[in-house]
Amino acid sequence: MSEVQSESEAHSPLASPGAFTDLLGQVRAIEALRTRVRTGTHHPSMILHGPPGVGRRTLARVYARGAFCVRPTAAGEPCRREDCHHCARFDRKPRGLGYLEYDPGGTPDSAHVDEFLKTRKGLLDDRSMIVLVDADEYGDRVLDRFLKTLQGTSISFILLARDERRLPKPIRSRCDSFRLRPLARDDAHAFLRARLPSAPPDERALDVLVGAGEGLPGRMAEQVARLPGESGITLDGVRRALALTWPEEMSAFWRALLDREIPADAVPRLPGADEPSEQVRRVRVILQHLRAPTTPGAARDPALLYREAALLDEPIARLRRCAGPRHGAFEEMWRRLAHVWTSGDLIDGDALVAAVQRSRRVVSGGVEG
Ligand SMILES: [Zn+2]
Repeated sequence: MSEVQSESEAHSPLASPGAFTDLLGQVRAIEALRTRVRTGTHHPSMILHGPPGVGRRTLARVYARGAFCVRPTAAGEPCRREDCHHCARFDRKPRGLGYLEYDPGGTPDSAHVDEFLKTRKGLLDDRSMIVLVDADEYGDRVLDRFLKTLQGTSISFILLARDERRLPKPIRSRCDSFRLRPLARDDAHAFLRARLPSAPPDERALDVLVGAGEGLPGRMAEQVARLPGESGITLDGVRRALALTWPEEMSAFWRALLDREIPADAVPRLPGADEPSEQVRRVRVILQHLRAPTTPGAARDPALLYREAALLDEPIARLRRCAGPRHGAFEEMWRRLAHVWTSGDLIDGDALVAAVQRSRRVVSGGVEG
């Protein structure tokens, strides 16, 4: 890493909501941050942690806007009035106010930190606020360098982390910490509706989008960007756009695998995917479903959400027929198949073919460990 990457000089209003009321979920964190803004209390420094895409940086920016506003509202919101010098300036040139984002895009070294601080020296004063993006990637020494260098100033930090526990304990003990969580279903739907071109979309299509994006605003926004904009948002359209159409192929594979009419040494072809690991994951998703079927609206994998029952019922029926009527035979056969497909060495095409062969032997009654 040779040069210091620039923190965002200006945020587009769309990419960066202006007020807490623009945000969904994160009730506890937002309440605490509103109190900070309302009372003008911006210490101690704080940690915002949660999975990537959950909205850590967005929340940091909204809070910072409130912190820099000269006349925040009684509810703890930035005023957003045109005559508020700071609110207007925050959109155009936040660093001029003393708001900096340090985003090294990986694991920085101490020299990188030193250079960042040296080149920003003129921008820092007592009201400054520095956001440390992916702070849990820095390592203790680099993080220490940051905080020690600025010790004795009243600069406040917002540390963004995926996993709070990876931050040094002394730092954690001196910070307020807020865990951000994926959006609940209603909030996630509201988030999507605000971004989709056509309304009203199919609720089931929304659920698939939420599932594929794991309820994370950043991930869901990416999914929306992959949809064809002009046509209506349908369940099938969403599945196609997000490459969630694989269960048809995988179901056909399982039907062939469990077909006792086919000779035991005939090996059905495992449907392709970008990576062998994804092929294996898909086999496991179906296998899991064969053991513990969920209702169509409750499937854990977004590709299985709202699938017609027949798609997966038939492989289940075949597995039962293969296992025979003996009590516990179905479970036993399932366990043997699971043993084949949870092996750690399913890493390439040859290993996958071997796993399919072993599965064939299991279902046709051959001995298989
Ligand atoms: Zn203002």
